[in-house]
Amino acid sequence: MKNISYKLAIISILLLITAGCNKRPDEIKRLQWCTMGTIAAVQSTDLATAQALRDIAQDEFATMEAELSSWNSDSTLAMVNRNAGRDLAVPVSASFTEILKLSTRITRDSGGAFNPLIGPVLKEWGFNGATTPSTIPSTRSLQRALSFADIADVELSTINSSNAVRLTKAGMQLDLGAIAKGYAVDQVWQAANEKKLTNALIDLGGNLRAMGEARPGRGGWLTGVRDPFNDSRIIARILIRDGEAIATSGNYERYVIIEGERCAHIIDGRTAMPIKGVAGVTVVAPDAATADALSTALFVLSIEEGKTLIKEHYPESLALWIPDSQPVQIISTDKMEQRLQR
Ligand code: AMP
Ligand code: MG
Repeated sequence: MKNISYKLAIISILLLITAGCNKRPDEIKRLQWCTMGTIAAVQSTDLATAQALRDIAQDEFATMEAELSSWNSDSTLAMVNRNAGRDLAVPVSASFTEILKLSTRITRDSGGAFNPLIGPVLKEWGFNGATTPSTIPSTRSLQRALSFADIADVELSTINSSNAVRLTKAGMQLDLGAIAKGYAVDQVWQAANEKKLTNALIDLGGNLRAMGEARPGRGGWLTGVRDPFNDSRIIARILIRDGEAIATSGNYERYVIIEGERCAHIIDGRTAMPIKGVAGVTVVAPDAATADALSTALFVLSIEEGKTLIKEHYPESLALWIPDSQPVQIISTDKMEQRLQR
């Protein structure tokens, strides 16, 4: 559970915030299950809404897993990766196409800090099923892995009016782990809206999106930002309004130790080096795919670069950073500062 603990904290904090009123008729019901390598949950005071939303979410998340899982060798993603360098474009769904386009956009906006082709680099550092190396990877091997990580080498085409993807160099590997969960949450949110469900919260491993409000008059869903150094402490709260999403990227959830150094699972797409100095980044955005991708991108960029990225490309998003230093502090964009309840 360690590897997902930081993101899951936001779930447990929600529970804390919404708990303590078990006997009330407007008690918040939470239904949860495992999918996409993490925990999914839906919440609502109305049990029928929670159940209807869970049914939608179970279907959508299972579909997404079948397409985007890097572990399942039958997934579309695995097929795209297996065919890297071959003269064969793999047919993909509209969702796969959209997620790839969103990823490409944020890769370009972030100057390559966010990089969905980071797969070979992650393997050098012992992630994505690779054995942890006993020494820090050499500059040469990292540069070689980076040579497979140029977004311009991804070809998106149309074959018989359906989309197809080709990774043009053998050795390239797509990894959509930084955006897939957020995107999946958006799919559920949209399907639930079409069914006129409201006053519920969708959650996939700490990627949350709100529908309506938790209780009448609340104005949304109150979520907590956890102290990354102390599981049980909430350091701030943010009210997520109808339609908004929140996501967190953390340093403590997944890492390897090489030569005594902790190496985080989020790696700079420009330099192939694991990120140091940040313990967590939380983003509130108009949709969950953006919140998810942006929290990873901001984790990689310096705070100044991150603020510029938001200002220039994602002005509707709010962000906060928790540096990996003591005492714990929160650095926020102006809009986030106005929304934070400390
Ligand atoms: P998240 O938890 O959403 O921040 O996503 C982290 C995951 O994204 C990692 O476990 C990797 O699979 C992948 N990843 C790591 N570094 C990057 C990067 N620079 N750009 C995009 N994805 C990354
Ligand atoms: Mg992310």
